[in-house]
Amino acid sequence: MKGRPAFRGVFCAKANFEKGGGGFPQVGMAQIAEVIVDIAHSDVDKIFDYIAADTVRAGMRVAVPFARTVTTGFVMRVKEHSDVPPEKLKAVLRAEEEFPALTEEALSLAQKIAARYRVPLALCLRLFLPAEMRSGKVGELYKTYYSLREPLPEISPRARAQLALIAYLEERGEEESAVLHQKFGGAVKALEEKGALNIEKRRAFRAPYRDIEEHEPERELTVAQAHAVETIVNTEKTVSLLHGVTGSGKTEIYLNLIARQLALHKTAIFLVPEISLTPQMLRQLRARFGSSAAILHSGLSAGERFDEWMRLREGTARIAIGARSAIFAPLENVGIIVIDEEHDGSYTSESSPRYTTFDIAYFRARHNGCKLVLGSATPSVETYRRAKEGEFELITLPDRINARPMPAVSIVDMRRELKRGNASCFSALLQEKLSSCLAEGNQAILFLNRRGYSQTVVCRDCGYVAKCENCDVSLTYHKDENLLKCHYCGAGYRMPPACPDCGGTHLIYAGTGTQRVVDGLRKLYPKARILRMDQDTTSGKEGHYKILKQFSEHRADLLVGTQMVAKGHDFPSVTLVGILDADMSLHFPDYRSGERTFQLVTQVAGRSGRAEMPGEVVLQTYDPENYILRFAAKYDYEGFYAHEIGMRAATLFPPFAKIVRVMVTGEDEKETLEALREVYGRLQELYAQNREKFLFFNRMHSPVKRIQNKFRYQVLMRLADSSVLKEVYERAELHTKGVLVYVEENPSNLS
Ligand code: ADP
Ligand code: ZN
Repeated sequence: MKGRPAFRGVFCAKANFEKGGGGFPQVGMAQIAEVIVDIAHSDVDKIFDYIAADTVRAGMRVAVPFARTVTTGFVMRVKEHSDVPPEKLKAVLRAEEEFPALTEEALSLAQKIAARYRVPLALCLRLFLPAEMRSGKVGELYKTYYSLREPLPEISPRARAQLALIAYLEERGEEESAVLHQKFGGAVKALEEKGALNIEKRRAFRAPYRDIEEHEPERELTVAQAHAVETIVNTEKTVSLLHGVTGSGKTEIYLNLIARQLALHKTAIFLVPEISLTPQMLRQLRARFGSSAAILHSGLSAGERFDEWMRLREGTARIAIGARSAIFAPLENVGIIVIDEEHDGSYTSESSPRYTTFDIAYFRARHNGCKLVLGSATPSVETYRRAKEGEFELITLPDRINARPMPAVSIVDMRRELKRGNASCFSALLQEKLSSCLAEGNQAILFLNRRGYSQTVVCRDCGYVAKCENCDVSLTYHKDENLLKCHYCGAGYRMPPACPDCGGTHLIYAGTGTQRVVDGLRKLYPKARILRMDQDTTSGKEGHYKILKQFSEHRADLLVGTQMVAKGHDFPSVTLVGILDADMSLHFPDYRSGERTFQLVTQVAGRSGRAEMPGEVVLQTYDPENYILRFAAKYDYEGFYAHEIGMRAATLFPPFAKIVRVMVTGEDEKETLEALREVYGRLQELYAQNREKFLFFNRMHSPVKRIQNKFRYQVLMRLADSSVLKEVYERAELHTKGVLVYVEENPSNLS
């Protein structure tokens, strides 16, 4: 772009460009922009050349004429010449923003993702932008601020409100118009008319979690923490795995590593599985880094998310904190990337492109020449193996801070409870421990991974089970709303007064959900203050935050919840954790069910006894001899790992093989089956040519045959050798209207 005269008017000269560039004043002086149009379809998934003014740069979003309309596009590159004849070239109409929304790194990474997962480039570029920017629905926010004007005019001592307002502004310096009007009403106008106020309109940033404003000094690291930091900084390896028991002080290590990078004028990305669930983490980060931390997650309002993103892009915020998608934060010069709770299933995207966060993080780490830190008390088997084999630096923190003991776990055999005549979901031991916990004024957490009241409703006379009309699953009874709900599509149905099949009236509520647990607790402990945290009680903005805040301020004694209660919380008064049904996740049809159960039990147990008072855990199961539960009760990760990896090696499951599922879904069963046949035929050919690379190959119904009215079929494969993976993606590419085909690798959910 050197030496070319600046071309103005690119942002407004729409009319100039409309006739195929004919109106463009100095065609020879302009440049060519390579544009990808923002349409996620393989037919248009290629570079189109446009004439562009030299203010247009790579990474900008631009409006371009395309197929007789105007479309947004992304400038991938600018160049001097095009191979397209000049008379055929159209011109960029305008830039959507004055700056490149996409960084060089984003452009390059998006291309890698598109190639890896065989999806249109536009879809990958979108990952790097806030949805609000693309929809154009949210923009920058401006607010009016008032401050005092000197010299102040004389104010009558009787004008109390006006004097109060002046005192307020003297103390604060300035305040936003809306706040002042709310606090002082008419006094604002009165003072304004007297000429006592300066008024200024300025860009305002919508900041989430405003009420977090503490200031926390840096903590002195323990010897183990300091050693971990040094190891991570000094290792030659890009990736370090921090394997530390719950409460071992991993967070402090992350904060220290981040602070070091900020001091070097670099930026940081800090990922947590579900940030809205961990306000404590937010508080810690805000307290330590103030407004240089920006938070990106789906619980924010559109305006907040947009502003947080802008602060990162502009460089006013230098730490991006968030769930999976924050790995696409628009930061440059990244100094460190942290993935906390690396084993968490939420790090795999469940919509196209189905990326794993680690892959993206690893690429960014390499691109920026920085370190990638994975942390967990229960690393995934695959990650741990890579660390053991020397690919990652392995750092182990076997002890809690201040050598606090891990809570003792008692395994209760629920079969025996039944034999003794206790059919409730609280064993005698759990009841006893709950009573003393409450008597001592402590708090307890009860964990059950099923929301609603009962798992389902069954007719005792004919065996009828209430099912969803759109999905092939049974319905869950929700007592709060007196509705039967589908947990797959959200549909609600009225509770039938009698069995729709046989007319019988003996409908039973089978299985227990969190609502029923709360009902049971109310009967057992009428004085206890009980909170419930599950998807039903946490909707709305900062919904989790409110419940957790209430519990952490000890305004409740018992917290009942689904796996939301298992995540990283640090409640000092919790001395008892009850795991009501440890078997639930064990019997999931998934090669990782054992691993998941171990992780979940360890995480939940880790919520107990984090402060001075020792904690306890009661684990209820119908399978007390189960080795996974035995290892979990002893916090024996090594034992668990050795057993699990041995089994995976013997049965050839990941990481010794790769599970690949090609899903075929559509509303019309016939069309879907036809598509399945086509895709299956193509894959079968591949299978026939490479039999030795396949451990398993078959087509079938998915375990859940229909979700949201869509039929679900699959080709399931287990690959001994991933070299055919690329071909699997290629052969799974099918564009039939109304049918969606996609590939999943080691899917975390096989339903
Ligand atoms: P983890 O993330 O490994 O579960 P945390 O980072 O939550 O552990 O730390 C556990 C507890 O120890 C927290 O209450 C934290 O404030 C405290 N802690 C961490 N590091 C230190 C330290 N260096 N000195 C004192 N207390 C610490
Ligand atoms: Zn449904």
